[in-house]
Amino acid sequence: MSYIIPQDAAERRAVRPVICYPNDTLPDPDLLRLSDLRMTARKTGECLVPAREGRCFRVPAGHFFRISSIEGPQVGDLNLWSAADPRERFYSGKTRALHGSHLTRGDRMWSSFPHLRPMATVTEDTLEWYGIDEFGGSVHDVIGTRCDPYTHHLLSGGDDYHHCCHSNLTRALAEELNQPCAEVEPLVHDVLNVFMCTGFTHDTGQYFMKASPVRPGDYIEFFAEIDLIGGLSACPGGDCSAEHSSDTAACHPLLVEIFAPAGPIDRPAPQPSGYRWP
Ligand SMILES: [Zn+2]
Repeated sequence: MSYIIPQDAAERRAVRPVICYPNDTLPDPDLLRLSDLRMTARKTGECLVPAREGRCFRVPAGHFFRISSIEGPQVGDLNLWSAADPRERFYSGKTRALHGSHLTRGDRMWSSFPHLRPMATVTEDTLEWYGIDEFGGSVHDVIGTRCDPYTHHLLSGGDDYHHCCHSNLTRALAEELNQPCAEVEPLVHDVLNVFMCTGFTHDTGQYFMKASPVRPGDYIEFFAEIDLIGGLSACPGGDCSAEHSSDTAACHPLLVEIFAPAGPIDRPAPQPSGYRWP
């Protein structure tokens, strides 16, 4: 043993935790108002994301977008960029600090510094019932990063796989912005793992995944707070019950639908953080 357990170890461990970022001062998402707005909305477009591929889609501020499971259990890796300046992008780490490890109805997807404003608000989640299971697992995490060819190459001893979510999102954004992959790759970021069921093991604290409880017909829906480019990859891990970064898992497409509310939206666009450097 290379360490000494202090005599007051139990006492130190027994200190009660405090929440790092109490979030009751965050602006109210006003879900009731959004729900009223959604009632007036009609579908204006859709985007089918094929299995093991990625696609981009645009959502104007004030519109809703829905991601649905359509043919079988499937996990999606979601990126968001400001359409006005894609350097402003989803910040999964700070979103996790503000809302917790998994998102559901009422939570926001916050943008990167120096902006730190809500990009999208989760307005519907048919998997909200799942809660937290006995293993500590839950759905729609902001703890995973995205499966990528670099980590896979490292861990597999040199195997190259080209349909990781990172690669799919990079190709999709390159096509959307009409720029080379190498140019847009740094804009691809840690994701919201839509429909993925994950947690940390109690004994070793390792990131785990388990078969997603999502079934065809399930969906998660968002309100776009600003003009958005969304990127979604139908993860090669399928329902993420066993492995990813290969063509082994059964994979299914995902459907993105866009809905426009009728009439003007009486809701101010969220402003970038008011903090200024001295
Ligand atoms: Zn993936």
